Amino acid sequence: MTEPVKRVYAFGKDAQGNNVTEGNTTMKATLGGKGANLAEMANIGLPVPPGFTISCQTCMEYANAGNVWPEGVLDTIHEYRLDLENRIGKKIGDAEDPLLVSVRSGAPMSMPGMMDTVLNLGLNDESINGLIKQTENPRFAWDSYRRFIQMFSNVVMGLDGDLFENAINAMKAVRGVKSDTDLTAEDLQELVAEFKGIFTENVSGEEYPALVVDGSVQFPQDPMVQLKLAIEAVFGSWNNPRAVLYRKKNKISDDLGTAVNVQCMVFGNKGNTSATGVAFTRNPANGAKEFYGDYLVNAQGEDVVAGIRNTSPIADLKHVEGLEEAGRELEEIFVLLENHFHDMMDIEFTIEQGKLFMLQTRVGKRTAAAALHIAIDMEKEGLIDKKEAVRRVAPDQLDQLLHPQFDKNADYDVLARGLNASPGAAVGEAVFSSADAVAAAEAGRKCVLVRWETNPDDLAGMIAAEGILTSHGGKTSHAAVIARGMGAPCVCGVEALKIDAEKKQATVAGTDVVIKEGDMISLDGTSGIVVLGAVDLVMPELTGDLDTILEWADEFRKLGVRANADNPEDAKLSRDFGASGIGLCRTEHMFLGERKQIIQTFILNDDDAVREKAVGELFEAQTGDFYGMFKEMDGLPVIVRLLDPPLHEFLESPRALDVEIARLEATGGDKTLIAEKRMLMERIDGFAEQNPMLGLRGCRLGIVYPILPEMQVRAIATATAKLKKEGLDPKPEIMIPLVSTVAELEKLRAVAEKIIAEVAAEEGVELDIEVGTMIELPRAAVTADEIATQADFFSFGTNDLTQTTFGFSRDDVEAEFVPQYLQEHLLPYNPFATIDPGVAKLVEMGVKLGHEGNPDLVCGVCGEHGGDPDSIHTFNKIGLDYVSCSPYRVPVARLAAAQAALEEE
Ligand code: PEP
Ligand code: MG
Repeated sequence: MTEPVKRVYAFGKDAQGNNVTEGNTTMKATLGGKGANLAEMANIGLPVPPGFTISCQTCMEYANAGNVWPEGVLDTIHEYRLDLENRIGKKIGDAEDPLLVSVRSGAPMSMPGMMDTVLNLGLNDESINGLIKQTENPRFAWDSYRRFIQMFSNVVMGLDGDLFENAINAMKAVRGVKSDTDLTAEDLQELVAEFKGIFTENVSGEEYPALVVDGSVQFPQDPMVQLKLAIEAVFGSWNNPRAVLYRKKNKISDDLGTAVNVQCMVFGNKGNTSATGVAFTRNPANGAKEFYGDYLVNAQGEDVVAGIRNTSPIADLKHVEGLEEAGRELEEIFVLLENHFHDMMDIEFTIEQGKLFMLQTRVGKRTAAAALHIAIDMEKEGLIDKKEAVRRVAPDQLDQLLHPQFDKNADYDVLARGLNASPGAAVGEAVFSSADAVAAAEAGRKCVLVRWETNPDDLAGMIAAEGILTSHGGKTSHAAVIARGMGAPCVCGVEALKIDAEKKQATVAGTDVVIKEGDMISLDGTSGIVVLGAVDLVMPELTGDLDTILEWADEFRKLGVRANADNPEDAKLSRDFGASGIGLCRTEHMFLGERKQIIQTFILNDDDAVREKAVGELFEAQTGDFYGMFKEMDGLPVIVRLLDPPLHEFLESPRALDVEIARLEATGGDKTLIAEKRMLMERIDGFAEQNPMLGLRGCRLGIVYPILPEMQVRAIATATAKLKKEGLDPKPEIMIPLVSTVAELEKLRAVAEKIIAEVAAEEGVELDIEVGTMIELPRAAVTADEIATQADFFSFGTNDLTQTTFGFSRDDVEAEFVPQYLQEHLLPYNPFATIDPGVAKLVEMGVKLGHEGNPDLVCGVCGEHGGDPDSIHTFNKIGLDYVSCSPYRVPVARLAAAQAALEEE
């Protein structure tokens, strides 16, 4: 007989003080991150309010069955609820001394603020009396009840939160008070009655027949009904649109589900010896070794994150009367947690009448700068070793460090200052709603999202915006936490900013500035500065901590990292970023600007003399290009790819020409000019292809127009000879693109070798220039053994290889149907961004067969995948020699390559 599936797990102590926890930190897939670490904290003796966790798998079973409970689970929950009541000697809903619980989501991967939570569950018209009796604090009790109804209605029943906020504001207006805290117990009691009325009016009896009493919907009084509905809501929140969007952005599987943690409530709002807060064991913005976070006295958890009241720094806590001991204990726990988890942790805690409780801990999210700094410090402190330090920094996060900053020489006036919540600078038009941010981005306009404070519904706008600016909230507010996670620049808590979201404008206290929608603003999330107008931005340099971690990474990686670059500036940047060569120089990028005219002359003329003259001009230009590139990369390999794209890409668009001819005709234009344009049109039409990507391009161009590769090889060889004579060490390699048969390569290799020999003789220098090919067609991959006999190296062009393996047009499908495929899980991810296993098989086959044909073959990859960390893991497994990527991805690739090598150990 198979063991029945265990779906619910207890944590915390029993009535005798024994730990009865059933889980631990390794069980995140079952208990979610929060549940697993609550269990772990209980196991290491930290003060955790007791409770139980319903597994993630139960959530998925419930969702997959169409929101139907798996058999027996409700009975198990009932047993664990009874057990919890026994453990702490209180009953949910009790009229004398009620147990209140929180019901919180907790997925295996952290998804901060994306899913739902219900607090104070168990309050009803009877248990409220018990709470008043126990606390002797009617105001606190009624406040808890009104919060519960408000939260339950919003989170579980989906009612608009404004219905309740408006009622509170109306009550404050009538009473003539400003703050919620000025409302009395009687006021709050009245609000509870009003809230129940709102519930009755807005919840549909048809949808919730079980809530109908005497013909109308009533706020549920039975705590078991409350609990069941709350758990269902948390399960349901796994699939709410913002959670789905967050998972997509963070590549989290939709199949994990969320756990539900049902936990005894502790109260941070029981007076001045109670408090609640969030903290990090180190500074998550810059990595400094200091306790970091905020707390609020006499408040409940969501008050801190919501930014409703201004918080105090965590370091002050131990100096506050009545909170000294809890403050000291908390700091001891910070150290204990770091020693236990060997990482920087983030923590939620509550102090109830002087007694500290830990509500959550998880590995803290941090900026890239902090990740580097903490990894290096922890290695020095002996908490982790070098390998672990290298593993600790997410390669994609490094992008943040390569983010723009304000140009130090830029001239600007600071308009306002706020908290430097997430580093990097952003410039864009001010927009005042998430929807407007999305619309601006879709229209190709850069924008900065300006909000009083963000909430999870703003996620789409936060992703769309260049930066985020809020007038309220601390460094652990929603805006700050999410922006840091996304690597988006963010300045928060700019108190001087008065935002009128309705009017889509903001004023700045102490100035007469009005920021209207569409006005350009700039922000610097590293310093917390806001500027009216567009400030010039610059990219930062690679120094300090990043250098250290990359040097450590270089000790472990097996893959080389080269860059794709086609001009001396990018070549220099690549070298500065640590590239060990150029893996792909796309020579067609050298044929733009004025050069386009020359190649057009070549393509469109039949006259040999005119053509030769054009090619001569191109030769001069190319020789200069290559000279600059090889000089910059002195001593390092530079793979130059011969011309690849279909020739019509260099020609005018026939559509535009057609329009011009029609215009000339309509306006009685010059007849000779019209005749010339018509001739041109005919020639351009002659180059039109049904499938240009599968047409006259790549090596086929060189076979049809041998003068082109001859010119390019001559330019490469001439530039090399010149540099050699100057005493430098140029190392060009010639790459033939889009080969499908060995015969193609053999023919073009012969051309290249002949020209190289000619130049060597003419210049009187020895030229040893390797010739290789791109593998970007399935036929090339499967006949790689033959092709390798003619190649010194292979470079896998995985952009074209993906295109031709799938038969997906690389220029179209990402906008056409790939998004739908992703949504419907027909593809797990975009194969043009991360290498597909099918395409990877061809690469693997190409490498293996290639080595059969030429044991000395050097193999790399130069498609976009070369800079993608997930793909780099695959390429490392396959055993490529190097990856080549855009210059800014070079640091990312160095780190990812090291992590891939360490994973193999
Ligand atoms: C490729 O196809 O992967 C490649 C690098 O070449 P291009 O993107 O220039 O076609
Ligand atoms: Mg290609």
